[in-house]
Amino acid sequence: MEPVLVLNASYEPLNVTTVRRAHVLVFKGKAEVLEKLERPLHSATTTYPWPHVIRLVRYVRVPRAVQRKISRRALFARDGWRCVYCGTAASRLTLDHVVPRSRGGDSVWENVVTACAPCNHRKGDRTVEEAMMELRFPPRAPAPVLFIQLAAPKIPDGWQPYLSAFGAATAAA
Ligand SMILES: [Zn+2]
Repeated sequence: MEPVLVLNASYEPLNVTTVRRAHVLVFKGKAEVLEKLERPLHSATTTYPWPHVIRLVRYVRVPRAVQRKISRRALFARDGWRCVYCGTAASRLTLDHVVPRSRGGDSVWENVVTACAPCNHRKGDRTVEEAMMELRFPPRAPAPVLFIQLAAPKIPDGWQPYLSAFGAATAAA
């Protein structure tokens, strides 16, 4: 079954759903079809367009930081599969807490980064300042588009324009 891309009212990609659930949203007037596939969707009595990309009519607020669990794969993808300290992509990658857990640092998107094993070892139980290291960019909660890319093994062509508008290129690595 072809998955359907769901966009927020702001056109930001939110998630991926089934054709059936997408159709229900459209049927109830909660979403509009932006892209459809060249085939009809049959119900008992009538036919509808086959949804491929839909957009919610009302904006949905997404509490990002709490919504998405941290996984190594998502973290590494967020950071472009590179160490945030030295920039290498060649070493074994690890998860590093910017403020160490022993110092009260939380396991939240804003406090975890991708570090190569040597940098992680060098930093040890210290803060970035104490270790005299530098973050190439501050860690942030990733946009939903990252998880869409990680979830869909192959991104359908019809989704591409909607994803690329929200910086989808990074997770392709
Ligand atoms: Zn490194």
